[in-house]
Amino acid sequence: MKAPAKSSASSSPAVSIREPSAAADPGHKPGERRSLDLFSRLAEHEHEQVSHYYDPSSGYRGIIAIHSTVLGPALGGTRFWNYSSEEDALIDALRLARGMTYKAAVAGLNLGGGKSVIIGDNRTTRREALFRAHGRHVESLKGRYVTAEDVGTSTGDMEFIKAETDHVTGLIGKSGDPSPVTAYGVYRGIKACARYRYGSDSLAGKSVALQGCGSVGYHLARLLAADGAAITCTDIDPQRVKRVVEESRAKPVGTDEIYDVPANVFAPCALGAVINDQTVDRLRVEIVAGAANNQLAEDRHGELLEQRQITYAPDYVINGGGLINVNAELHGWAPERARSKAGEIYDTLLRVFEIAREEGVPSYRAADRLAEQRIAAIAKVRRNFV
Ligand code: NAD
Repeated sequence: MKAPAKSSASSSPAVSIREPSAAADPGHKPGERRSLDLFSRLAEHEHEQVSHYYDPSSGYRGIIAIHSTVLGPALGGTRFWNYSSEEDALIDALRLARGMTYKAAVAGLNLGGGKSVIIGDNRTTRREALFRAHGRHVESLKGRYVTAEDVGTSTGDMEFIKAETDHVTGLIGKSGDPSPVTAYGVYRGIKACARYRYGSDSLAGKSVALQGCGSVGYHLARLLAADGAAITCTDIDPQRVKRVVEESRAKPVGTDEIYDVPANVFAPCALGAVINDQTVDRLRVEIVAGAANNQLAEDRHGELLEQRQITYAPDYVINGGGLINVNAELHGWAPERARSKAGEIYDTLLRVFEIAREEGVPSYRAADRLAEQRIAAIAKVRRNFV
C-alpha cells in the first residue's frame, strides 16, 4: 500500500520530489541496495531538517520533515501509512512538508511547512503508546514543528499526542470541523474566478457542476445557491446528493456524467487527480475551482487546462480555509477572524492570475511564485538581529 502521491514527473516546485533515476545515478545496478542519500534530498528543495525516531517498546517508526520555518513554526499533519519502504516514507514526508510551506505562504499565515509520517498499519487498535511516542518525537523539536490530523489519524490520536506535547492542533472541542471555513474560502475563490473571467463576481445566473456533496461540498452548495447560482451535483452517496438537491435546489447527475455538464464552473470537492487524460477534454466549463487536494493528476494537465482557456484556481490556494482554521486554533482566533482570513482567498487568487498573465505561466505555477515571493520578502525583513 502506498500513499496517493502526485506523479514523480511533477515539476511544480510545491510538490515535486524526484525519485532517484538510473540516469541520475548511472553507477546504480538494478536490484542493488541504494542509500537514502538524505542530504542531497534535503538540498534538492532546501528542506531544513529531517528527524527520525524509533521507539522499540511501541514499535513506533516516525519521520518528521521540516521544509521551512522562515515564516513561522512548520505546521503539517501526521500521516499514518503502511509505506512499502522507508525511502517511500521519507519522500512522502519531504513532498508533503514542502507543499505545506507553499500552502501556508499563499494563505498569508505565519507558518512554515512540515509533515510527519508514521510507518505502519493505520488500522491498529494499539494506538496510545504509538501516538505518545510520536508526541515525544514532536516535543523533541521544541516547537519547530506543530502537528495535526492527516490520512490514517484521528482527533483521538491527537489527544494521545497532546499528552506528550503542546505542539499539536486540531483537538477535540477546539476549532472543530474546518469544512465551513474551507467552503467559504472556495466560494470566495469561485467569485474571484468569475471576476477575472467575466468582469463581475456575481454568481447570479451562473452554473456550477459540483463533484462531491460531502462536508465541504454541502456548505459550498448552500453559499452558491444563496448567491443565485444553478447547481448540478453528484456524489457516490445518494443521501448526500439528496441533501444538496433539497436544500440548494441542485439537479443531480451520475458520478461520471459530471465531467460532461455544460456549466460556468466545475468544482471538484471529492477526490484528487480528477483533471486527467480521461477528463480534461470532456470538461465543458470556463473555470475549474474546488476544494479537492491535488486536482491535477500531473502538472501537464494544468497546461492542458490553460490551452483549453479554462481558468484554473490552484487547489492549494483556493482550499486554504482548512489550514486557516487550524491556524485559528493555534492562535486563539475567533471564528469570524478565520472566516475573514479565508475570504482573502479572493484577492490572493486575483494576484495569482495577474502573475500568470504577467509572466506567461499557467496559474498553478503562478501560485508557486507568489508563495516564493512572500517567503523571500519575509526572509529579507527578518535577517537582522533585533
Ligand atoms: P468528505 O469526505 O466529507 O466529502 C467527500 C465527498 O466526496 C463524499 O461525500 C464522498 O461520498 C464523495 N465522493 C467520493 N468519491 C466520489 C466520486 N467518485 N464521485 C463523486 N463523489 C465522490 O470530504 P470533505 O471534507 O468535503 O473534502 C472534500 C475534498 O476537499 C477532499 O479532497 C479534501 O482533501 C479537500 N479538502 C478539504 C478540507 C476540509 O476542510 N474539509 C480542506 C482542504 C481540502
